[in-house]
Amino acid sequence: MKACRKCHILTTRSTCPYCGEATSEHWQGYLIVLDPNNSEIAKKMGIKMPGKYALKVR
Ligand SMILES: [Zn+2]
Repeated sequence: MKACRKCHILTTRSTCPYCGEATSEHWQGYLIVLDPNNSEIAKKMGIKMPGKYALKVR
């Protein structure tokens, strides 16, 4: 899996399916967001869509 440098979503693609940014293989930790509107971490990270997100992306 690769992570988007901008929105941090995890994907198998080389570009992010949501924002079009290039993805990176260098990421650490992940977070599963089921309901972004009711998640403090999601709000902090600016996550608006449910999914799997990397915590750190280089
Ligand atoms: Zn993205």
